Amino acid sequence: MILILKENYDKKQLDNLSDWLKAQDIEIHMCEGVHTTIMGLIGDTSSLDIDMLLTLDIVESAKRIQEPYKNANRKFHPQDTVVQIGDVKIGGGNFATIAGPCSVESEEQLCTIAEQVKAAGAKLLRGGAFKPRTSPYAFQGLRETGIELLLKAKEKTGLPIVTEIMDISHLPLFEEVDVIQVGARNMQNFELLKELGKTRKPILLKRGLSSTLQELLMSAEYIMAGGNENVILCERGIRTFETETRNTLDLSAIPMLHQMSHLPVIIDPSHATGISKLVKPMSTAAAAAGADGLIIEVHNDPKHALCDGAQSLAPEQFADVQKAVDAVLPFACR
Ligand code: PEP
Ligand code: MN
Repeated sequence: MILILKENYDKKQLDNLSDWLKAQDIEIHMCEGVHTTIMGLIGDTSSLDIDMLLTLDIVESAKRIQEPYKNANRKFHPQDTVVQIGDVKIGGGNFATIAGPCSVESEEQLCTIAEQVKAAGAKLLRGGAFKPRTSPYAFQGLRETGIELLLKAKEKTGLPIVTEIMDISHLPLFEEVDVIQVGARNMQNFELLKELGKTRKPILLKRGLSSTLQELLMSAEYIMAGGNENVILCERGIRTFETETRNTLDLSAIPMLHQMSHLPVIIDPSHATGISKLVKPMSTAAAAAGADGLIIEVHNDPKHALCDGAQSLAPEQFADVQKAVDAVLPFACR
């Protein structure tokens, strides 16, 4: 980090600041010009609050040279992280598709879909038990029963399960869940992230609706700072001025996140577009751009789905998408 000091700064205040920085194990390199004095701060500056430094009387401006995320940063961890879920691996050249309904509706619905997506090549089963809905009058999910049904489907098919947590108090219900999803709306629920950092469960962290890639990595950092390194990043579309699609899929997030971080990156073409017809082109594009996986909504009867039917694929459509993705994977950019 670089601090530029105000002209005629108070020497005593500089001494105080230097002592405080040294106490944080920061080395200081001073560069005194005719009008400008620059302080180069060397060491782990991730815990320094740039806004706090800017409030100091002697500081004119401050600039970070190093990113504020450390655990998630590729610079400190050059090799790809591979997240292991049972026998399934995601990252470091291992690609996996997660498929299943937006929400768990019944045992029959879930088990039918689970068998079909497994046969088509999905490696994990998704299904929402606790649903974040825009309207409080919309279907809110089967909650505890939904998790029980996911565990039944896991028992029947052997597919590990992925489901969303909305509140820390529900954590005990997720004991047997294989991958805990943090939804877009909770990406910056920092207390939730800290609790998940205390577990060693794989966490599927979705990008917030209006979050930058750096903010996504800072949220991953919250989980990793607690010691949980099993984080999978997910781009699921962001809010833009476009209204034809539900969100705008930021495909450039794949190579960009791979450059910034060693964590696996997967794409959710279902929530990104909101339109089932767009899932195949976006899935193949994501695979070609180097994604480590996909999460796709599949329903046995999309027209009557209780949630997100318009973006859900019928099982045979999913099979077609998986086939197209498999054909693209050998040519993926990495
Ligand atoms: C979901 O995966 O069902 C979901 C609600 O996703 P998101 O948080 O990306 O909207
Ligand atoms: Mn959904």
